[in-house]
Amino acid sequence: MFDPKDHIRTVPDWPQPGVQFRDITTLLSDAKVFRQLIDAFVHHYYDHEIDAIVGIDARGFILGAPLAYELRTAFIPVRKKGKLPFDTLEEAYQLEYGKAELQIHADALKAGMKVVVMDDLIATGGTLSATCKLVERLGAEVVECAAIVDLPDLGGSRAIQAAGHSVFTLCAYDGD
Ligand code: AMP
Repeated sequence: MFDPKDHIRTVPDWPQPGVQFRDITTLLSDAKVFRQLIDAFVHHYYDHEIDAIVGIDARGFILGAPLAYELRTAFIPVRKKGKLPFDTLEEAYQLEYGKAELQIHADALKAGMKVVVMDDLIATGGTLSATCKLVERLGAEVVECAAIVDLPDLGGSRAIQAAGHSVFTLCAYDGD
């Protein structure tokens, strides 16, 4: 049975003391494991009615693009401020220190489209929540938020669910 935790590298105290960084590059660098990883999402969403995968800058792109390709949906990037060339909508959200902003192209989604929002990991949930707001401001529907890893201690997945969105993750680091 494929368990992403067998392949994720934990880097202690990076990028700052006290953070256990869950490095997913070791899931991507093994060809068979990379395929098992994407297939786990493909199987989960195979029977869902989905029009687009919205991938979050930058690790959400790595996962979201092959998933969209396999599901034969569109792929829509949500990017850090200042990277998208056309008209954009933006959402600010809170980081541990300071604020960040995410943007989506104003014509990226049409009203009524059903989308999955994808990132690599859910910590406080701020990144995914801001992206859900961008999707909904364009009139599209968030079918689910997807990530490889949940860090339940930080409450992000709970907050996303409390806001009315379904969450799908492949593994969790709970108190470890
Ligand atoms: P948040 O908005 O707090 O849910 O943070 C999620 C974003 O920050 C994701 O894009 C992750 O890639 C990154 N992130 C936060 N904490 C970690 C961690 N412990 N290990 C790896 N990435 C993290």
